[in-house]
Amino acid sequence: MSYEKLEELKTGHKVQISGGKVSVPDDPIIPYVEGDGIGRDITKATQRIVNAAVEKYYGGKRKIHWWEIYAGEKAQAKYGEMLPKDTIQAVSDYKIVIKGPLTTPVGGGFRSLNVTLRQLLDLYACVRPVKYYDGVPSPVRNPEKMNVVIFRENTEDVYAGIEWQAESDKAKKVIGWLNETMGTKIRPESGVGIKPISKFASQRLIRMAIDHAVKHRCNSVTLVHKGNIQKYTEGAFRDWGYELARTDYADRTIAEDQLQGDAGSKIVMKDRIADSMFQQILTRTDEYSVIATTNLNGDYLSDACAAQVGGLGIAPGANIGDEAAMFEATHGTAPKYADKDMVNPGSLLLTAVMMLQYMNWMEAGDAIENAFAKTIQQKKVTYDLARQMDGAKELKTSEFATAIIENL
Ligand code: NAD
Repeated sequence: MSYEKLEELKTGHKVQISGGKVSVPDDPIIPYVEGDGIGRDITKATQRIVNAAVEKYYGGKRKIHWWEIYAGEKAQAKYGEMLPKDTIQAVSDYKIVIKGPLTTPVGGGFRSLNVTLRQLLDLYACVRPVKYYDGVPSPVRNPEKMNVVIFRENTEDVYAGIEWQAESDKAKKVIGWLNETMGTKIRPESGVGIKPISKFASQRLIRMAIDHAVKHRCNSVTLVHKGNIQKYTEGAFRDWGYELARTDYADRTIAEDQLQGDAGSKIVMKDRIADSMFQQILTRTDEYSVIATTNLNGDYLSDACAAQVGGLGIAPGANIGDEAAMFEATHGTAPKYADKDMVNPGSLLLTAVMMLQYMNWMEAGDAIENAFAKTIQQKKVTYDLARQMDGAKELKTSEFATAIIENL
């Protein structure tokens, strides 16, 4: 392979991922996209903390070799485009990328890095763990009851982007065909979108969710859908989920309606209709553990869950496929705070923890998470949390990173 402007590192080795199996050398090269706006502040802080944890827990035996690749404004300056081929090639070759937020120019012309990489590398699962860290200000009474991991399907549903503008030739053609041959009564001047949901994509997503539940000894997997109304898409997602559990995980799972008394060591497979799930996650929060859902439901549900435990500023996320993985902060570039050394690096830092867990570097990942939690308990926080907490000490991004490193 060759790159136009990127220079490959001379030290370190590549991570290999094949069929979902991850193989990580002790000196992995990890490509990163710094991100625009506050991306610069939080990337610096995150790398410092990760390097300190790896050094502390593995001595000289393990070391990450960070390799900067470009997207967004920096790429525009270096390449004259927001998402150069070099970047896509690098992620495809090196398998893992961690990225800060990117400016998305309004008005088109730039497909987001996320969407492009998701499609090219088939990153079919958006994974969002949501849990509470003691001391973080929250709008609910018992935020500590929240501890879920949401697996959201990434490639189908209304987000697949198959839609036609109202009154366009294509929309008219689709509507004409549907009304004439399929017996529908769609208003001719409508815009039209298509919602495909397949057994293949549903089951591989649900498989990842069940595998996670098995690996982490979670007690349930809940399929969230709107199958009461959309029977052949959302309803089918639920049915294919139960079918997969029956055929491939018969010894590990039990359906909720088959349950008589205690499930023992088995994972309970449940399903909830999406609107009811939004109530349940508020009123019976601790009855949910792993959640698998279609794209649009997952989009809403992950932000709603994050809000219950203190918002997007500390919510991590990843897009994972069988051949590559992209880890990213869930918030935007917050331009008015850029380069002020002010914002909370928590989202990107906990995203890095997900990355370390994915690499099976558990000790470093757990240590960072514990140190992050301890620092917040000590009421040493960035401005966003400090303004909502009594008696908090407000720290800069870099000072917060130092406090976490001291707590490792
Ligand atoms: P935003 O998340 O950038 O900021 C909204 C507000 O949230 C900020 O003003 C700030 O008060 C707060 N905030 C966000 N992150 C914070 C942090 N780490 N610490 C403390 N406070 C934080 O959302 P926006 O203003 O809607 O979007 C700004 C830009 O970011 C846009 O160009 C948008 O397209 C882009 N964006 C990118 C991504 C991504 O790359 N994944 C995601 C969302 C938005």
